[in-house]
This record gives sequence, structure tokens and C-alpha cells, in this order.
Amino acid sequence: MLNSLSDALKNSIRKIIGAPLIDEKSVDAFIKDLQRALIKSDVNVRLVLEFTKNLKNRILEEKKKNISREFIIKVLYDGLVKIIGKGEEIQINKKPYKIVLVGLFGSGKTTTAAKIAKFYSKRGLKVALLALDTFRPAAYQQLKQLGESIHVNVFGEEKEKNPVKIINNFKNEINKYDIIIADTSGRNALDKEMINEIREIDKALNPDEELLVISADIGQGAKEQAEAFKEVGVSGIIITKMDGSAKGGGALTACYIANVPIKFIGVGEKVEDIEKFDPKKFISRLIGLGDLETLLEKAKEGINEEKAKSMEEKIMSGKFNLIDFYDQLEAMKKMGPLKKVISMIPGLSMANIPKEMLDIQQDKLKKFKIIMDSMTKFELENPEKINRSRIDRIASGAGVDSSDVRDLIKQFENMKKIIKKMKGKNIEKIMKRFKGKIPFPM
Ligand code: GDP
Ligand code: MG
Repeated sequence: MLNSLSDALKNSIRKIIGAPLIDEKSVDAFIKDLQRALIKSDVNVRLVLEFTKNLKNRILEEKKKNISREFIIKVLYDGLVKIIGKGEEIQINKKPYKIVLVGLFGSGKTTTAAKIAKFYSKRGLKVALLALDTFRPAAYQQLKQLGESIHVNVFGEEKEKNPVKIINNFKNEINKYDIIIADTSGRNALDKEMINEIREIDKALNPDEELLVISADIGQGAKEQAEAFKEVGVSGIIITKMDGSAKGGGALTACYIANVPIKFIGVGEKVEDIEKFDPKKFISRLIGLGDLETLLEKAKEGINEEKAKSMEEKIMSGKFNLIDFYDQLEAMKKMGPLKKVISMIPGLSMANIPKEMLDIQQDKLKKFKIIMDSMTKFELENPEKINRSRIDRIASGAGVDSSDVRDLIKQFENMKKIIKKMKGKNIEKIMKRFKGKIPFPM
């Protein structure tokens, strides 16, 4: 489905997920890559620029915090939803409910008319087709045959050239049905004659729904077409030939320009090859959301391994400071109670660990974090320089007792000592198991 567009999006996403670092530079590269890919897939250039500009702004707005890979994908997903819309189911809320299909030659109007007819008659509604393509000689016969194959009545007149007359001739018949689906004539290119004809039909039939049928392989002409049909007042879009090898960018452009919901997609030549449009499913398929989740998991593991390495080096060189301690506390919160953590590490017995460390409770960890928030960068990096006056200042800043600050420093020293003892043990293996976090009391 829309392979070129889909592959293009997936490739760009894969690159940013795999980037060792998410910063302004890699986001920039991602945006450029995306632009190239979208333009190659026939997405209108102006739309590409607008889309990617918004995307970049949204991503970089987040810069103060950490730009995560998930966030980028979420923003991309939201951006795509904005283009293709939320989709909307047709509400058959009156009788007869009249649907007119419009679009250029070969876009799939006649086939789609039969598909929709089958879709609703299968759901128990009384459906009739109305043959208003009086331009092509064989059009009536084509619809008639399709109608017969799905046991749906087709109203039309082979020799009549004026669609308005056909509508008027069948006025009484039409009122007997739940749904009327009208096939109209297209042209090779947009022209006034066709647009006028649609206006005449609209006046005579007064449709409840006017759907623009576009083929997924519409290409760069999409913008112009969508603009012209928007003028006649389409209420929705049907994209056909989604099963083919279409690049898909044109269809995306048309949706954006027409700014009406997609109602159905055509996914094959047979009359049953039609699906109600589901934007979530659609975008998930387009960007391969299923695979993305696995990819994100892997990327995270990779990142944590990097982090683990640098942590390991720090420990080995004795440069472990309060910032690292803070990091570990964060990890701790996710891993649960200390006792449980320790019991999960083979070869690490409770015996080596000072009892007071074992008893650190979650709310104590919270307190430690608050205290550390009141420390200066210098203090966090050089905990051994925290003297009495500094302790008092930190305590009053954090709204705790000085003894709490001393407790924190003591725990930190304890941890350092244990880490020293740990040297030579299989620290690497343990860290791998915990995806780069050192279980706190190690
Ligand atoms: P119209 O000129 O707009 O009425 O287009 P038609 O309904 O005659 O369709 C033109 C061609 O496109 C036909 O050969 C159809 O079989 C084919 N077609 C229509 N919809 C689809 C679709 O969803 N998938 C595929 N593969 N072919 C389709
Ligand atoms: Mg046709």
C-alpha cells in the first residue's frame, strides 16, 4: 500500500531512531531527509515544506526537555493525521440518502459505485445505482453489468445525453430506496464542461454526499484537481487503487487541499474490495507502527548500553559523583524495592550490604532527590567538598533537616565504597541485566 510513500517515511524514521544522539543537528537531517522522500513520492512541494516546518518546530519546542525518539514519531503521526484527517463514517440518516461520485476518467467512479452499493446492500439497506455518466458510450452498460452481478437495481437510459433528464425520469423510483448511488462522467482533464455538469446534477438531485473519487496514483496533478472539485463542494474523498504500486503522495496532497474526510478506500478490482477508512490503521500501516515499536525498544537498549559503558568507566576511575547517584535513584524508582532488586542479581548477597542501605524506603529516595535539587552543580560534582555551612544552606533550601543532608551524603559514600569493593566482580554482566542502570546498593 502506497509503497513509495510508506518506504520513504519508514526510512527517514529508521534513520532518526538509529541516530546516536537526538539534537538539533540530527533533527535537521531528519527533516531534510523527510522532505526529499516526500517530494519524491509526489507530495506537493508546498505541502511538504509546510508539513516539515511544523514538524521541526514542534520537535524543537521540546528541546528544553529531552527530545525522545517516541516524541518525534508522535509528532510525525499527529502531523499525518492532520493531513489526511480523522476520517468519517457516512451517516445514513435519511431516506433516500443520495451519494454522488465525481472524479476524472479512470479514477474508479463506476467500480466504486458498485462497491459502495454492495457494501450497503450487504448491510441490509435497499440500494439502487443511478447511471449519470452520459459522456462515455459504454458507461451505462458497465454499471448495468456491475449492478446485476451484485443484485442491485440500476437506473439509467442508454441513449439519453442529459443527466438531469435521467434524474427527473426516475424521481419516483429513487424515493423508494434507502440509498441512491450516482455514477457521473469524468473527463481526461479538468474542464468547465464537467464542472458545470456536476453543478447541474447537484441542482437536480440535491445529494446528501458528494464524494471525490481519486486514484492513489494521481501524482503531481493532485493539487489542481482537488482545488477544482473543492469548488463544486465535495463532502468527502474516496481513494481508489490503494492496492497498486502508486507512490501515494498525490493522494495525500489531494486530501490536504480538499480538506474533507476520507470515507472509503478501494483496495482491489473486485466489487468487495472496499474498506471503510480508518486513519489510525492507515497511518500505522504507512509508517509501519508495528515494526516501529520493536525498533524503538532496540534503540533504547542500545542507548542504555552506551550509558552503562560510561557509567562503568566512571566507577572504575572513581569519578562517580552525586549526579550519577541521582541517576541511579531514578532507575531505582522504576525497579522497585531494593530487596527485590538484590534478590534478582545472581551472586549478590544481602550480607555485603549495610543494613541501613537496604532499608531505604521509597519516600526517603524522594527526599534525597529534593535535597539534590537544592545543590549547586559544583556540589553535585564534588560531594566531598560539601562542608557544614553548605549542608545547612542545602537543608534550608530543600526544607529538610541538616541531618537529612548528612544522611544522603553518607549513603552516597556507602555506595562509593561498595562500588570500590565491586571492582573485579562481573560488573558488566550485572549492568547489562539492568539495561545500564546500576542496581542502587551494589
Ligand atoms: P471511472 O472512469 O472513474 O468510472 O473508473 P472505473 O471504475 O471504470 O475504473 C477504472 C479502472 O480502475 C478499472 O480497470 C477498474 O477495475 C480499476 N479500479 C478501480 N478501483 C480500483 C481499485 O481499488 N484497485 C484496483 N487495482 N483497480 C481499481
Ligand atoms: Mg465510469
